[in-house]
Amino acid sequence: MDPPRFVIEASEAASLAKDAGVSLTDLLPTLVGAAKPLARTPISRYNVGAVGLGSSGRVFFGVNVEFPGLPLHHSIHAEQFLATNLALHREPRLLAFAVSSAPCGHCRQFLQEIRDAPDIQIRIFPVDDPDQEADPAFGPLSRLLPRRFGPGDLLDKEMPLLLEPHHNGLTFLTRNPGHGTAACNGFCDGPEADDDDELAAAALEAANASHAPYSKCPSGVAIVDRDGKVYKGSYEESAAYNPSLGPVQAALVAYVAGGRGGGYEGIARAVLVEKEGAVVRQEHTARILLGLVSPKCELRVVHCGSG
Ligand SMILES: [Zn+2]
Repeated sequence: MDPPRFVIEASEAASLAKDAGVSLTDLLPTLVGAAKPLARTPISRYNVGAVGLGSSGRVFFGVNVEFPGLPLHHSIHAEQFLATNLALHREPRLLAFAVSSAPCGHCRQFLQEIRDAPDIQIRIFPVDDPDQEADPAFGPLSRLLPRRFGPGDLLDKEMPLLLEPHHNGLTFLTRNPGHGTAACNGFCDGPEADDDDELAAAALEAANASHAPYSKCPSGVAIVDRDGKVYKGSYEESAAYNPSLGPVQAALVAYVAGGRGGGYEGIARAVLVEKEGAVVRQEHTARILLGLVSPKCELRVVHCGSG
């Protein structure tokens, strides 16, 4: 069986729109029904699917993901998944999205990290839910969050926002980053140092792409599955702090969006890269989250400094 797809390339999206006789934007609601079943909701059983159009013409899926055994605030919302999916694929702008349920306040706030967020076009388009009414047309996100608090309240206008290219200038403090602070959440396979260096380099890359302009404590996680495929996740902050998305969650978005559709037991090892002495640290949460979702995964923490 083919793995689920979370990105539709621009040429295929254009062809789907042409066949349906609609614009690219109006294609989005027609795909919400395909996104929704991809959610992982063992707690709520309430699936949310979001389908977004990037400025490159590519179409991205987002779904909600829940983790049994952990407090609910570790959950990933569909709109956060969607924005993270765009970031993973270096898509610079989100133009429009359709979503199966009205975005919660948390997500309305999280999306403010994207440049010109008030102008993002949104259409609530429930599928398989006769109790909810669909929006008749797309409208601006500002309609759902009229008097927003956002990056403009805390940052200079020139600061890069989520999805905008930037490099945090982090470098390793040691020559053998693969040998960071190791701790096994469970069984350890005893990985080769070379492999670990490669995984640490991927986590550093993710940390350098992290959106952390408020705390200035960027971080990144790289995980490798048992087939050797690497997935990277960058920590993403919100101006309102609490809606921020941790680096393990971001890496799990990459795993769900780019993997074979299997469970988290397929994750073999992980590396977290963060600043030494950072005021916002991910290590403890990362150990709890990964230890719960993938008990046999070995997590190493590697500290870095600003170049
Ligand atoms: Zn939400």
